[in-house]
Amino acid sequence: MRVDHRLADELRELGARNISQCYSCGVCTAICPLSEEGREIPRRMVRYAVLGLRDRLERSLEPWLCYYCGECTKSCPRGADPGALMMAVRRYLITRYDFTGISRVLYRSPLAEALLAAALFLAVVLGVYFLHGPVNLERVDMESFLPAGVVDAADIAVAATLASLLLANAYRMYRLTRRGPRLPLTAYITELVKTVPPHFFTQLRMLKCRGSVRDWVMHALTAYGYGIVFVLVVLFLRAIHAGVYPAAHPLRLAGYVASALLLAGAGYAIYGRARRSSVARQYSHPTDWLFLILLLLTTLTGVALHVFKYLNMPLEAYVCYAVHLGLAAPLLILEVPFAKWSHIAYRPLAIYFARLNELRARRLQPSP
Ligand code: SF4
Ligand code: SF4
Repeated sequence: MRVDHRLADELRELGARNISQCYSCGVCTAICPLSEEGREIPRRMVRYAVLGLRDRLERSLEPWLCYYCGECTKSCPRGADPGALMMAVRRYLITRYDFTGISRVLYRSPLAEALLAAALFLAVVLGVYFLHGPVNLERVDMESFLPAGVVDAADIAVAATLASLLLANAYRMYRLTRRGPRLPLTAYITELVKTVPPHFFTQLRMLKCRGSVRDWVMHALTAYGYGIVFVLVVLFLRAIHAGVYPAAHPLRLAGYVASALLLAGAGYAIYGRARRSSVARQYSHPTDWLFLILLLLTTLTGVALHVFKYLNMPLEAYVCYAVHLGLAAPLLILEVPFAKWSHIAYRPLAIYFARLNELRARRLQPSP
């Protein structure tokens, strides 16, 4: 067992500011709503962090089960803030899964993160400025301004790159957390179907953890909003860009619903963090803020673009489109594989991988 005393300092940088105060009383585990399943949450992670057990921490899936209800933090007699430690561990694990090292840069340096986001924004806006086609000021003509083929090709390239990065990181997560021998292929498929879609569509773990129906509804609606936008952008961007759908077309209505969900979700989260309305919102890492602000602004400019199109205001629509694409670039490129949005993949995968580990443990038990 390797002991690394730098671990606590690294986690402190990621938000676990008081963890050295812990004297291992176990009150946090007694109060944690997830501990009933026989897991020692969060005390085990606190111990790993304090003792510098980096390997064990990295092999753990438990941090992904926690949605930061804050009960452990409220009841800790030493003010060690174990809830913040669990959040910091999730950030740390993202940096360990990511083979490129970009997550590490984003989480360690808010300045580097802001500069990267600004560089991506400027690259896209300047790209549109220099490469756009004829500007029709008589009517909004997106197809002339930016041909659908160009937008479609860029969309596919970005989607393929992000999916590849996320898959590679998910595979590293699997390798790090796997305990035991290989299973039959059918077990991988069956458990995947049984764990990932139900978790994604119900988000029930969050309700179980936080116990707040309002938080759960807002979280689930934001996830649905993102899911709808993802499907529209990946599958129908070309037609949406060219404006071929009439106003009441189901795909347009789906876009309106998704925009409303994302605005509500991002607004609710920003409001809660600004007011520090709960224990879980007392401390926000700069990456949390950047994610929420980009999400809000990208959605707002998407809505404004529709309004300008509807009112036939060509110049405003073209400028708004360039800004919208500029904001979407850091939101997708930085957040999906390297920061906050990767939770959407790692949380259900953690449940899946934990289930596979359970099956492996059963196979290793001697038969009676
Ligand atoms: S984090 Fe707090 S409640 Fe949990 S074991 Fe340490 S001192 Fe006790
Ligand atoms: S924040 Fe809530 S779910 Fe997470 S470890 Fe603490 S008590 Fe458990």
